[in-house]
Amino acid sequence: MQHSSAAAVRRLPAFQAMPPDGCPALVLNADFRPLSYFPLSLWSWQDTLKAVFLDRVDVVAEYETQVHSPTRAMRLPSVVSLKTYVNHARQPAFTRFNVFLRDGFACQYCGTAERENLTFDHVIPRNKGGKTTWENIVAACSPCNLKKGGKMPRDAKMFPHHAPRRPNMFELNERGRAFPPNYLHESWQDYLYWDVELEP
Ligand SMILES: [Zn+2]
Repeated sequence: MQHSSAAAVRRLPAFQAMPPDGCPALVLNADFRPLSYFPLSLWSWQDTLKAVFLDRVDVVAEYETQVHSPTRAMRLPSVVSLKTYVNHARQPAFTRFNVFLRDGFACQYCGTAERENLTFDHVIPRNKGGKTTWENIVAACSPCNLKKGGKMPRDAKMFPHHAPRRPNMFELNERGRAFPPNYLHESWQDYLYWDVELEP
């Protein structure tokens, strides 16, 4: 059996053809795991084709949808994998989103997981010298945030469930896997849900 890369590309049935703008590509690292789970690593079809022409990615699966240049027609990739492995050892950015992701989008005081109501709280309040850092910021619901106000944890008798600390990219990615995206293309499923390492 011949397994050239072209032969291994999965084709999807014609009834799934959709306009190009509805055809983002799932981007896998060189180890075939998604580059990021949450937000899911997706590229627009334009960025994806650019990367294909620059030979930075391999096409793993394709949409039925084609785009046409003056000289040729091309199916849009639905899954691509990077040719060069991107190392996740780098430090994640200290953003509101990443703090919420680290804390599982749940209040660290009462455990409520209400994304609309989620704010962030300084464990050591700013008026007591608390800094805005990974080690002092936790996700908190509005009621808990109000209740704690400018008080120290021991005075408010409110302690975060997990002592806040800086996560690494791997940990954030693991967290992200718990939050399936709203829209999943069929050809993405294998890479999102079947990549768990098996115990020997
Ligand atoms: Zn709360």
